[in-house]
Amino acid sequence: MTDVSPRSNDGIDWVLECVACGETAAAAGLPTVCACGQPWLVRYPTRRPGILQRAEVRRRHGMWRFREFLPLRPFEEPVSLGEGDTPLIRLPRTGMRLGVPHLWLKDEGSNPTGSFKARGLSAAITRATAAGARQFTLPTAGNAGVAASAYAARAGARVRVFAPESTPRTILSQIVAFGGDLVLLRGHIGDCGKASRAWGQESGAFDLSTLREPYRIEGKKTLGLELALQMAWKMPDVILYPTGGGTGLIGMWKAFLELREHGWVEGELPRFYSVQSSGCAPVVRAFEAGADHCEPWADPWTVASGLRVPAALGDRLMLRALRESGGGAVAIDDAVLVEAAATVSREEGIDVSPEGGAVLAALELLVGRGTVDRGETIVVFNTGAGWLYRDPGDLQADR
Ligand SMILES: *Cc1c(COP(=O)(O)O)cnc(C)c1O
Repeated sequence: MTDVSPRSNDGIDWVLECVACGETAAAAGLPTVCACGQPWLVRYPTRRPGILQRAEVRRRHGMWRFREFLPLRPFEEPVSLGEGDTPLIRLPRTGMRLGVPHLWLKDEGSNPTGSFKARGLSAAITRATAAGARQFTLPTAGNAGVAASAYAARAGARVRVFAPESTPRTILSQIVAFGGDLVLLRGHIGDCGKASRAWGQESGAFDLSTLREPYRIEGKKTLGLELALQMAWKMPDVILYPTGGGTGLIGMWKAFLELREHGWVEGELPRFYSVQSSGCAPVVRAFEAGADHCEPWADPWTVASGLRVPAALGDRLMLRALRESGGGAVAIDDAVLVEAAATVSREEGIDVSPEGGAVLAALELLVGRGTVDRGETIVVFNTGAGWLYRDPGDLQADR
């Protein structure tokens, strides 16, 4: 038996639990994945945040306002750039056009570095630097590389970022601007992952890949915690989320279960819908086939670069969350998601990314099918800012 008594680890009052085999471990040092190869999830067996603490959480700022639910030791300062507190904005015109009056958009583009990736990397780099890591490596479809570069800089550490050469130019330039050591490769994020892992073994750099360490997902959990706070602790009926590696989805699901366990929210949890591009839709295909895991997608391509993830370590967890919530999965063609992003940007003045366009197009589809009811409260996520996908040449190309 491993000693997992949380109090023995210098203020670390959480433990790790394998999502597949149920093995548990103490959380000291630099945890990666379980010996069985599957991800760890963080559990907080001794924490009992009561609902009186909701008022205290409300008085603080940023994603770390939820420290009762996060891997932070007492009095510890996180590596932070003010991430979180992103606006939850009503979409009256889009809602009217689609026939869903209770439509809200959570705009993650207003995070530092322009996407929700800031949340996960703030948490992962906080824990890894606290454990002594000073050099990092990660593969990225784009935005995680920007966030890793900024948060590594913030921590006084270095990061090597392996990205596909087809990544939008503006995203690549942001990685370099924050001091990331950018390596461009032909191929997709899976190919970058192999190169990143090889370099990590050679150099000792710590791997920040999605679910290869347990803390990025804890940071992404704040998407769900914050949404609950903004909705006055009442859950929406439906959440649409653009899915790549899946940590946003899994993190939100974990957040709602933890909030419910502590009595901070009551009643039904929302139905989750995963949205992908039809150029890379392994989760949609597996969901429709009734499978419990995904098969890697051959030749993945989409302009929504955050969704260009042909195989994800969190596939089983994602499928479980979609099914347990009574939700589903939808694939959207690139031309349609680009058009939806442009339409809503003009309609509502929000800088919608291609990934955000995908969920808005998916909503139209689900309303049309009657899967989403017109009276329901719906939250869609614009996971990143649209400007990251544009470069000055676009203006001319449009005319
Ligand atoms: C990474 C990313 C996604 C996919 O999120 P996951 O949590 O990896 O599924 C979606 N949109 C944008 C803008 C991203 O950067």
